[in-house]
Amino acid sequence: MLPIPRFLLPFLLLALVCFNAAGQSKSLNVTYIANEGFLLRSDHHKVLIDALFDESYGAFAVPDKAVLQNIQQSVAPFDSIDALFLTHYHKDHCNPVLINQYLDKHPATPLVTSKPSLVFIDGDCFGFVTKQTQFREMTPAANQSVNKTVAGMQVTAYGLKHLTYLRNGIDLEQYMFNISFLIDMDGVKIFHSGDIMPEAFSRYLALHKGWNLHTDVAFLYYKMLEADPKELKQVLDVLRPRYIVPMHIPPTEIAQWQAKLSELKKQFPGIIFFAQPMEKETLTIPSNK
Ligand SMILES: [Zn+2]
Repeated sequence: MLPIPRFLLPFLLLALVCFNAAGQSKSLNVTYIANEGFLLRSDHHKVLIDALFDESYGAFAVPDKAVLQNIQQSVAPFDSIDALFLTHYHKDHCNPVLINQYLDKHPATPLVTSKPSLVFIDGDCFGFVTKQTQFREMTPAANQSVNKTVAGMQVTAYGLKHLTYLRNGIDLEQYMFNISFLIDMDGVKIFHSGDIMPEAFSRYLALHKGWNLHTDVAFLYYKMLEADPKELKQVLDVLRPRYIVPMHIPPTEIAQWQAKLSELKKQFPGIIFFAQPMEKETLTIPSNK
């Protein structure tokens, strides 16, 4: 064998490291749309989740009209969408007319959501049910899960209770049906909680001991990060996420969250914070995870 000149060694080593990184690490491109709405892109897949809505309830971020138009018209980066995902039918996640319109314009694109959400959209858009070939209904029972393959992606929907909103001792959200999604996009495991608090995890865990997901990216309702540390630890022990994206932060609280970001990073080193709609970030997931 020919001796390798000594001066070449560092270059060879660098080449080897780069080759390994390029060959084995995975990546996820995340574009923040508004509230809990995101465009996610992996090597071969692109999905929208909780993205078609325009109701702020006077408090939450909504997508720009131009963004909604670009989505409807498949203008890049919103071209070639594999599937629409919807966690629940609150109007700061779901506008039935916009979803109906999207399915009309994109007859090959499936909508992944629960029966209650489909019924809600159908109630608002008479005839929506005629698009049922595009429906990929996932309706787990409360504290159960169901699986489906959608456009080549493994999807699990968890029936995790929508966060509680008490008024005069009555939970105003007791009828709301939320699903949290686990989506495998080219080997990148993504969890999107929808609107839940850690107590939803405790309920699921009580029935499914040893629940363990090993996710790469966890999109979490922001108040989960401020929950009781023990309950939050339970959530993070299940998800073990490399990256955490807090969602649903009201625009009036963004500055406050930005200010405590360095503090949060000590606790959650992989926290990724989106402040402005259409901000994007490419998350790299090393292979040794
Ligand atoms: Zn909600």
